[in-house]
Amino acid sequence: MTTSIVAQRFKLIKSSPSMAAKARVDVLRAAGKQVVDFTIGEPDFATPEHIVQAGIAALMRGDTKYTASSGTPALKAAIVEKLARENGLQFSPAQIVVGCGAKQIIFNAFAASLEAGDEVVVPAPYWVSYPDMVAINGGTPVLVQCPQSTGFKLTPELLERSITSRTRWLVLNTPNNPTGAVYTGAELEALGAVLQSHPEVWLLTDEIYEHFVYGRARHVSPLKVAPYLAERTLIVNGVSKAYAMTGWRIGYGAGPVPLMQAISLLMSQSTTCPSAIGQCAAITALQGPQQCVSDAVALFRTRRDLMAGRLQAIPGIGCTVPDGAFYLFPSVAGLLGLADHNGAVMKNDVNVATFLLEAAGVASIDGSSYGMPNHLRLSFATSAGEIEEGCQRMLAAVTSLSHPQPV
Ligand code: PLP
Repeated sequence: MTTSIVAQRFKLIKSSPSMAAKARVDVLRAAGKQVVDFTIGEPDFATPEHIVQAGIAALMRGDTKYTASSGTPALKAAIVEKLARENGLQFSPAQIVVGCGAKQIIFNAFAASLEAGDEVVVPAPYWVSYPDMVAINGGTPVLVQCPQSTGFKLTPELLERSITSRTRWLVLNTPNNPTGAVYTGAELEALGAVLQSHPEVWLLTDEIYEHFVYGRARHVSPLKVAPYLAERTLIVNGVSKAYAMTGWRIGYGAGPVPLMQAISLLMSQSTTCPSAIGQCAAITALQGPQQCVSDAVALFRTRRDLMAGRLQAIPGIGCTVPDGAFYLFPSVAGLLGLADHNGAVMKNDVNVATFLLEAAGVASIDGSSYGMPNHLRLSFATSAGEIEEGCQRMLAAVTSLSHPQPV
């Protein structure tokens, strides 16, 4: 009898739906199909030149060796300075850990802290990786539905109801992927008040989209309004989204020293350290001119308005305008029950996403993958031309749907 080489716990996880969607688009394009890709989870432009130059300079200087596991002192100092300047938060370098992307920090935080059966409260819709990262590290994700009626946000009542004696973490993501929801200071204060009466629960706050806020929305770091949570909060952030540096793989965490030491220990026994070159470039990103960030935000704002307007004009699609991040999360509930010209009925959001890909060549990701069925996630991190083209194709495809003939 052959036994599987793959550990049982791998049955608890699946590959990231956004990575899988990207792979599907690549296959279709390689087969010559013209696909408009709305699955993109990263800015569509190059890393700003002054940051690239910093990477090149690092290479030429010979900054090409292992660094300290938790990051170089110079990058930690730049992060401490950034947290003070942009978030009004005071940290020491010992409270900072640099990883291969924010994703690694989150994974390692769960690996370092969860005992079997510990619960992690994850408001849904959520970034696809949180529940799987909890599960593979022995924890139990507790998914809390936060419907459109609450602005896709966790409320104090929902939070209170989801905490048990096993709860170890609450994960908050503001601005949110996939909904673009941005928590106000008052909303965060109210959630903080709930956590105040549950001293055993830690807060993981993922602020990777902090700069992508539009109109009157402002990013507030939860610790700013709930400083009493400092002893049990992990802030996660990175340079991937703000500086179009997804491939450089630099993210960071800020939090209590014992947790930082545990995360660093894990890195020392796994990845050793984040890329030395990436770390040098990240210092320039954080300390250099910030105009590139405001330019990106201004551009994304026009794209958000364009795409939301176009989607609102498509019958059966219900689209609100998000305050942050670079995704729209429209409801496709109005399309369910309709049939395509082959008679195939749209039973759920997965059917709708498949129909749009096959009939219109428009790639999106089903809301079910983010814990909220009957929605799609559409990224507007793509050109205005692609947005126009993709939305026109969607309009044409959706208006070709009809009520199924009775049999
Ligand atoms: N957190 C959220 C909410 C994200 O959407 C992503 C990437 O898509 C990450 C973290 C990971 O970012 P990084 O590239 O720094 O690993």
